Amino acid sequence: MGIMVERIISALKKNSRYKDRVEHIEILLPKEPIYGELKKDLSRNIKNYLLKKSIKLYKHQCDAIESLRAGKSVIITTPTASGKTLAFNIPIFERLARDKSATALYLYPTKALSNDQLKVIKEFESLSGIGVNPNVYDGDTPPNKRPKIREISRIIISNPYELHQVLPWHYKWQKFFGNLKFVVIDEAHQYRGVFGSNVAFLIRRLRRICSFYGSEPQFILSTATLANPIEFGENLIGHQFNLISNDGSPKGKKYFIFYNPYFDGVGTLSIHQETKDLFLFFVRNNLQTLCFTVSRKMAELIALWSKKELKESESYLVDKITAYRAGYLPVERRGIENNLKNGILKGITSTNALELGIDVGSLDSVVISGYPGTIISTWQQAGRSGRGVSGSLATLVAFQNPLDQYFMRHPKIFFDKSHEHAIIDLSNPYIVSGHLMCAASELPIQLGEDGIYFGDDAEDILKALEKQGLVQDTPNGWVYSGKGRTTEAVSLANISSEIFKVICDGELLETMDRTQAYREAHKGAVLLHQGETYMVEDLDLKNSLVQVKKRDVDYYTEAMKVVDITIIEEIEKKEIGNFAFSFGDVEVNEQYVGYKIMKYDKVIGMEGLDLPPLNYKTMGLWFTIPEDIRKKIKDENLDFAGGLHGIEHAMIGIMPFHVMCDRWDLGGVSTSNHPDTMEPTIFIYDGFEGGIGLTEKSFELIVEIVKMTYELVRDCKCENGCPACIYSPKCGNGNKPLDKKGTILVLKKSLSKMGIEDV
Ligand SMILES: [Zn+2]
Ligand SMILES: [Zn+2]
Repeated sequence: MGIMVERIISALKKNSRYKDRVEHIEILLPKEPIYGELKKDLSRNIKNYLLKKSIKLYKHQCDAIESLRAGKSVIITTPTASGKTLAFNIPIFERLARDKSATALYLYPTKALSNDQLKVIKEFESLSGIGVNPNVYDGDTPPNKRPKIREISRIIISNPYELHQVLPWHYKWQKFFGNLKFVVIDEAHQYRGVFGSNVAFLIRRLRRICSFYGSEPQFILSTATLANPIEFGENLIGHQFNLISNDGSPKGKKYFIFYNPYFDGVGTLSIHQETKDLFLFFVRNNLQTLCFTVSRKMAELIALWSKKELKESESYLVDKITAYRAGYLPVERRGIENNLKNGILKGITSTNALELGIDVGSLDSVVISGYPGTIISTWQQAGRSGRGVSGSLATLVAFQNPLDQYFMRHPKIFFDKSHEHAIIDLSNPYIVSGHLMCAASELPIQLGEDGIYFGDDAEDILKALEKQGLVQDTPNGWVYSGKGRTTEAVSLANISSEIFKVICDGELLETMDRTQAYREAHKGAVLLHQGETYMVEDLDLKNSLVQVKKRDVDYYTEAMKVVDITIIEEIEKKEIGNFAFSFGDVEVNEQYVGYKIMKYDKVIGMEGLDLPPLNYKTMGLWFTIPEDIRKKIKDENLDFAGGLHGIEHAMIGIMPFHVMCDRWDLGGVSTSNHPDTMEPTIFIYDGFEGGIGLTEKSFELIVEIVKMTYELVRDCKCENGCPACIYSPKCGNGNKPLDKKGTILVLKKSLSKMGIEDV
């Protein structure tokens, strides 16, 4: 396979259709395994298990086992398929074998992963003979089975949503929680942003209850590579962590191709046509290929176009291509799995929003159509190719978006160390407030002891809740005094207590915050939910309801807004050379003026919107541009306001590389004269009530961000600005004024004031 892959790559590089578009090929060298030794031998039972499975432990697995044996909490960041699960299952089984009452809780984000883990644990149990009675306990567990599971299971697999529902009933779980020795949180990087900040307080509620019943579990986090693993672990759990990051598992050789339809700054063919051609190129070269697309519709179109083209030339391949979608029956899914394994299928397309949910095994080649938004998901998708240790291929097809294009010009940044920070905000007052209310309903809150869980503002927030009649100060502590179940009022996926319900045919599809509803669920919007498209028929602001209908469309919408911003309080200011940045509380006023209808990146229509303005307090960063820079821009006959505006857009495009979020989770304002600063000012703020830590972290990393913004705009091959640099599809001012040269010069001069000359 290795030789074949090399031959195909050299064919690609020689082919006049493709060669200019291949911007970079990274060769990831094969790696030999690094095995490890344990200080103290494993028990015979566990050795038996390893023997029967023919497993020899890698160094990083041994490190994790030793840390857990020593009573530490660990965060494991080695890649998927490096044997992370075994690294924590061994010490957990070791402990549960020794201590017959000890228990462990495993939290997984999806049902499919929970079921996979149940299989693994059951096998461990039967091959080792260590009885733990594992069970999944979630929303689908029948009520009559629940008491038995709580009684006999020593390993329970669940998810955060279920834990949120379970905690108020902790007295039924006394035995399990009282003996809880380990909590495993797999795929922990998914717990970031609004969801992650909620889960962080959910975990604190769990720890408080465990402490009440006399246990203090160790935590095991398994995550993808992050820039801030230790900080992330400590924020999510409130514990110190040992980091396990030196991967000892073997790797096959991998070629990673960066393919750029916009290599010339123009892009003559649509990205979807480019994707289809590449997909077919690999399939025709006999590489079993999986193609990830942005939507299910696209996945289907690419499969359809491919079949059509093959019908003319190579009809024997037509039936070897299929689109994968959610909702297949188990028998259909098994059919696809089998046909992939025995090689009958050569090509499969799927939306990247979809957890594949099937065991596709490992393929020869993966095509990723469009940067999926995080480096983590890019690697996860790329990781679908690579059988054992033989060579494999991954191709990223760049869209005309800022980060896609930045990586094409700076591949080293992509393959270097991780820059992505997973953000958890422990100070959003709305989130803290919701979980304080839940906690008060679980056990009375004593401010002295419980301060460690809920932070310094807990008392003020409790007093505010008291005024609303939701909590009461009693001799035992603060207790919940509201009506209804607190866990119903607090959603792990949202911030405010005012949650919008998205309804499709009478069924609840998802929930969103008000800011998100304005942004994504206005009337006429196309809502993307797990790769499926829905049309918004009505946004009912009074009753916080969104009515949608499932519609199979191949266009999408972008809401446009104009924003006003007021500084409430500057919390921190930092000077870098002769340039200053500020961070603090701001109040924004967003007016959604209309939306664009887009098809294959082209605007095909515009509609107005009649929504009242959206006002909320959040956190933001800002900086002013000194007078001499403004003068310099004028002297060069460039547009100063257009330069500021370009910086605002480009910075927002770059920031998700540093603070993992959707680009639209951030908002911005730029003005030649802001009333609060009396100077030309650029603002970037968190698009969530109370803020969610995005601009706070960006403030810490601001020099890197400004530098990268400069490189992005400077290196873009367009003439006067494009969606890959200074244009923003959501700009409420129709991308006016904008001046690319002005943007570059203001950034260059600003960096020079910070003492950074040659970037
Ligand atoms: Zn450009
Ligand atoms: Zn704008």
